[in-house]
Amino acid sequence: MRRQLSLAFLLLPLCPLPALCQQQSTVIINAQLADGTGAPLRHVNLRITGSRIAKIGNFKPAKSDKVLDAKGFILAPGFIDIHNHSTEGLDADPLAESQIAQGLTSLILGADGDSPWPIAPWIEAHRKNPASVNVAVIAGHATIRELVMGKDFRRVATPEEISKMVSLTAHAMHEGAIGLSSGLEYDLASYSNTDEVIAMAAEAAKSGGFYMTHIRDEGNKSFEALKEEIEVGKRAHIPIEHSHIKLGTVGVWHKAPEYIAIINDARKHGVDFLADCYPYEAWHSGIKVLMPDKQYQNPASVEKAIADNGGPESVTIAEFKPNPSYAGHTLGELAKINNISYVEMYSRIVREGDAANTEASIIGHSMIEEDVKAFYQQPWVMVASDGGIGSEHPRGAGTFPRVLGLYVREKKWITLPEAIRKMTSLPAKRLNWKDRGTLKVGNYADLVLFNPDTILDRATFEKPFELPTGIEKVFVNGTLVWDTGKATGAKPGSVLTVSGKTL
Ligand SMILES: [Zn+2]
Repeated sequence: MRRQLSLAFLLLPLCPLPALCQQQSTVIINAQLADGTGAPLRHVNLRITGSRIAKIGNFKPAKSDKVLDAKGFILAPGFIDIHNHSTEGLDADPLAESQIAQGLTSLILGADGDSPWPIAPWIEAHRKNPASVNVAVIAGHATIRELVMGKDFRRVATPEEISKMVSLTAHAMHEGAIGLSSGLEYDLASYSNTDEVIAMAAEAAKSGGFYMTHIRDEGNKSFEALKEEIEVGKRAHIPIEHSHIKLGTVGVWHKAPEYIAIINDARKHGVDFLADCYPYEAWHSGIKVLMPDKQYQNPASVEKAIADNGGPESVTIAEFKPNPSYAGHTLGELAKINNISYVEMYSRIVREGDAANTEASIIGHSMIEEDVKAFYQQPWVMVASDGGIGSEHPRGAGTFPRVLGLYVREKKWITLPEAIRKMTSLPAKRLNWKDRGTLKVGNYADLVLFNPDTILDRATFEKPFELPTGIEKVFVNGTLVWDTGKATGAKPGSVLTVSGKTL
């Protein structure tokens, strides 16, 4: 009741004349609603007025309503991608066609420890020049670590340095960041100890932020890395978002049930732990991440790391600026072409990258379906892409329709309402967004209308930019941004801060 009163208050200034408000209304009829909570589908109408959902139920549209007949379609809250790498992509392409084509209405940027900086000017720029989608930004642990330590980062930070990192974290939160992210497996952050991360996470928690982490190891030592993550959650008293949950080496395959049991136990003991998972058995990262011991030129080490990842045919070069001809080939193929061993080939690509001050990006086919399925079936696992505009991995253009087409319709791993929950209210819960992520009167009208019989990804490792099928219409803050296969050109996206506050 209180909620409805406050909504009326909110809408009042926008609607000085009721007739005017009604003219701005659209009623979607005949769709089946998947409301984001996981509840069964239901046949009801939904009215959008201005930027909000004004009515849901079995009402008749008014004469002044614009009526949209959505027979055969599912109407759901717009999808929220909590791990999206479109920071640069959005600057060049604020229409974000490859994102809205998937039904996405909010992108959370700044994942894996790497964020824009400083935060305030970034937010201001995106507020002045909005995108088609809503955006929010997480402050990056590595970004802050580099600011404090510069090039001298290959060591544990001193207490003075940690206290500077903490105050920069506070500053970022104050300026509108929504949490702290880390990528502890990556070079810059890999030298940090747990105390450094805890100090910064505890600071982010004070301002209502959450901690999102690409943990220190996703392969042979993934269980140790998980324990460290849980310790951060406990000691920093911060909600956790485990990025792209996976078991990424041969040695830990089939261990999803054990991994899940540890997380369930932590949740039972009060750790607020959620995770996300992209719907592929291959990852995309830098070539160096393959080697936890960083012995890139040590043949025995390289051989072991490649074997752990499923062998030389499981590693494909996605992009390499110093030698673009490598792209699309596996390590095994490149070794044959160059008449050297795959171990030498790996070390050579690292050397060539170092000389040009860059690094090859690779696709590693080193997860198994059985583990991905087990993760997807956990109620605390949501869908996120870890991709974005221009991503060379098909997840950038395919993730959300792929889950609905492949995991729901074809494989039947999860029900449709549950999949929608994993794309909407579950990320909204982690973000502490109260007025997005479910279809409820008063909520923002971030909506997606799709065909459950045809929805499917089309992006592949060979053609990663192919747009999906089945997404009919997408609304962001009540404005149509995607209409039957095309972007409308509208850019109604907001910049959101902690608790979903609009700037
Ligand atoms: Zn990551």
